[in-house]
Amino acid sequence: MSDATTPRKRRKPKYEFTARAKGTSPEQQAEWRDRHAAPLDITLHRDSLLAYLEAIRVEPRFDSDTFTRVSRRLTRSGHPHFSKDVLRRGYLALVDDGALAADEEMLRRLTINPVRTLSGVAPVTVLTKPFGCPAQCIFCPDDVQMPKSYLSNEPGAMRALMLDFDPFRQVDERIRAMARIGHAVDKVELLILGGTWSAYRPDYQEWFVRRLFDAMNGVDSETIEEAHRRNEQAAHRNTGLVIETRPDHITPDEVRRLRWLGVTRVQLGVQTLDDRVSALNKRGETAADVRRAMRLLRGAGMKIAVHWMPNLLGATPESDRADFRRFWDDPAIRPDEMKIYPTGLLRGTELYEHYERGEYHPYTEAELTDLLVDCKRLVPDYCRLNRVMRDIPAPEIAAGVTTSNLRQIVQNKLAQAGTPCRCIRCREVKRESVDPGALDWRVLEYDTDHSREVFLSAVTPNDKLAGFLRLSLPTGPAPIAEIDGQAIIRQVQVYGPALALADESEGRAQHQGSGRRLIEIARQRARAGGFTRLAVISAVGTRAYYRRLGFEPGEWYMSSLL
Ligand code: SF4
Repeated sequence: MSDATTPRKRRKPKYEFTARAKGTSPEQQAEWRDRHAAPLDITLHRDSLLAYLEAIRVEPRFDSDTFTRVSRRLTRSGHPHFSKDVLRRGYLALVDDGALAADEEMLRRLTINPVRTLSGVAPVTVLTKPFGCPAQCIFCPDDVQMPKSYLSNEPGAMRALMLDFDPFRQVDERIRAMARIGHAVDKVELLILGGTWSAYRPDYQEWFVRRLFDAMNGVDSETIEEAHRRNEQAAHRNTGLVIETRPDHITPDEVRRLRWLGVTRVQLGVQTLDDRVSALNKRGETAADVRRAMRLLRGAGMKIAVHWMPNLLGATPESDRADFRRFWDDPAIRPDEMKIYPTGLLRGTELYEHYERGEYHPYTEAELTDLLVDCKRLVPDYCRLNRVMRDIPAPEIAAGVTTSNLRQIVQNKLAQAGTPCRCIRCREVKRESVDPGALDWRVLEYDTDHSREVFLSAVTPNDKLAGFLRLSLPTGPAPIAEIDGQAIIRQVQVYGPALALADESEGRAQHQGSGRRLIEIARQRARAGGFTRLAVISAVGTRAYYRRLGFEPGEWYMSSLL
């Protein structure tokens, strides 16, 4: 025990903030403003507009990936980047001028981006203000104008920068932009990006989330609780709130705080489960931290998305294969979603110094493709593989793979081998219509170190996913007393284009009944598992839906007797 006379040993901080450098040039910012804020100068941009429109017209099939590809090709050949919104305005002006004939198909291609809202909600991504992360991962970029780990010329980042990282303006602008190009925006999932959320000051976090809700509500609130309450009846209802953080920041208190803020999904920066590789890359955490974080988050009913980075310093394609297997073989991990971000070698990072000394080698495209093919084969039916590549602008990558359609290449290889990927994303129904009467209701169960997980799915005759539900039957205590001893629904997802809340069209309404059916099956499974109460982690804007299904609101969850 120490007393006033005993000199206290100063604890070495686990992390130190590092100096930050670099940023987007004033010219890049001015160019962005030109593109997004100022009215489009048709005369000045006429040739580029015509080049874009022609490139879009000649594509035999057109979806969001096609648009990204066309856009990349034209910017590489010296044309400015145009968003779809700008192109649409340019196209209409050229039709008005008589320079182009009106073409319905072209307008459709420039108007709607159906894939973006196919999962039923409009996603809105916002960035927190520039801030260092307490960790010192050697691969992580440090752009002084961005929250740690983001580059200001990454897609979406410049928008946040131009809006001063203001949460209200980011949401407001995005909702307006999506509505302008034809999306239903009454159901909104908010994704908060930016380094390590848990490292920001609590008062900043609270203000940030309140202002996100104020923007959806169209009216200011004094407290988080008031903002949440208003959102239950707002024009833009929140169907999910996502943050990203480090596993070692997840504590019982942090989980309670996240739930209080309204968080329903957490993106965990795991990067590796190999402690040797973790140490070499100065991650400052171990696989044991990841296991503990996942147990706490799962126990709170959160959906968990993990980030994994192959090709870190010290890894080889073989060690990465073994690392990837740990995510599924270890019952304490088994995430709901995953983003694979192959390490991008960026100048100015410590990893780059290793590269210059010949101690680090980025994988070749063939090595990376083979690795991703093998990884994708291992992804179980209950996981959604959201990404296999981070969208870092190619000029930022000092060496290594910059292929933008890597997912497609991997997908094709899997299809040729007759082993298509089974992950949720690859099996979602997308634009196909769903006959509710033909759905097969399947059950997949697996264990974690905290629960028996039940993955219920509604599958079409051609093996596509029309919807699914994640039910947790806990085997240990919950970190939040309100749901202790209860079975909990962690996610209900029914696919179909985002519908306005008032949309009563028959086929769609019928398919919405799939959610009800999934919940009924979940009730039966929970009862059979010996549970007497079923909770659901409901985002603020979905409370009315669960109320109609007999769930009553508690403090942070809704629940019903079984
Ligand atoms: S924890 Fe994430 S944001 Fe922080 S330094 Fe590491 S990679 Fe970058």
